[in-house]
Amino acid sequence: MTRRLLFVIPLLVVFSPCTFSQAPKLDRQVAVTIDDLPAGMADRLPAADITAMTTKLLTTLRDQKIPVVGFVNEKKLYKPGEVDERIKALQMWLDYGFELGNHTFSHMSLNQRELKDWEDDVVQGETVTRMLVAQRKMKLRYFRHPYLDTGRDLETRRKAEEFLTRRGYRIAPITLDGWDWAFAGIYEDAKKRNDTAMQQQIVKDYLAYHDAVFAYSEQQSAKLVGYEPKQILLLHASNLEADHIGELLDVLRKRGYRFIPLQDALSDPVYSLPDTYVGEEGTGWIDHWAITQGKIPQGAPVFPQWVIDRSKELRLSTGQVSAEPQY
Ligand SMILES: [Zn+2]
Repeated sequence: MTRRLLFVIPLLVVFSPCTFSQAPKLDRQVAVTIDDLPAGMADRLPAADITAMTTKLLTTLRDQKIPVVGFVNEKKLYKPGEVDERIKALQMWLDYGFELGNHTFSHMSLNQRELKDWEDDVVQGETVTRMLVAQRKMKLRYFRHPYLDTGRDLETRRKAEEFLTRRGYRIAPITLDGWDWAFAGIYEDAKKRNDTAMQQQIVKDYLAYHDAVFAYSEQQSAKLVGYEPKQILLLHASNLEADHIGELLDVLRKRGYRFIPLQDALSDPVYSLPDTYVGEEGTGWIDHWAITQGKIPQGAPVFPQWVIDRSKELRLSTGQVSAEPQY
């Protein structure tokens, strides 16, 4: 596109007659889910930092009345000398009025391990969480697949689903995913080094990339199912979210979203659509529906390369950032 065209198009937008008519009010809905509790980087954060991060994150969410389900990896509770404080951090989610779900004990991928091992990891992941929710007369009713890995073949996928149903779980799909875990890793390092310039750059790109992903997912989902379904957002428990989730919620509000409970989102018939997706790589449910319909998803926004490069750099130099994606 030429510079001249770039200049003309905004003018057309400004003076278009549509600007003067009443645009239909958008009523978009989204359920917020947060994975990898008590913290994505729990193995590197002392319990006091996890408590501080959790307090900040939950205070914003409670003040803004956002219904949230948090998904737990109980393995992260077992650090010698810190078990009680880590369990308390988990308990805070319930104290603040949120719900907890299971994300397996050790964040195990169904695509990398035998079904039996994975099922054992699901069961092991229930111990503390089930006790905490039972104390509040609540139920452990949601499950989120680590890495979104739902099985490499359809037989495994269906057997795992039947297993989850038998144990009383509803699978929590996702439709909005801006890979916040990747921004969170390099943010953690920049925060530790008091590098405010880099923190600002990370936050700017984290917000911009999420906005682009939201726009893409809205278009894709409407194209595939004929309307914009109730969306489900995937985030991760991190200092990036604790410090900046308020700005991300504003991005969603600007796009016309209101925040609904996961249970409400799951009532959308879109989550009962045929879904035969299998693959080595876990992905969101909009991709599941597209691939089930024989369509190849195209036009996804490009993830900022510098964030990937910076993550690799940190992994090589210090091992501070996890080598594994933190889905
Ligand atoms: Zn995860």
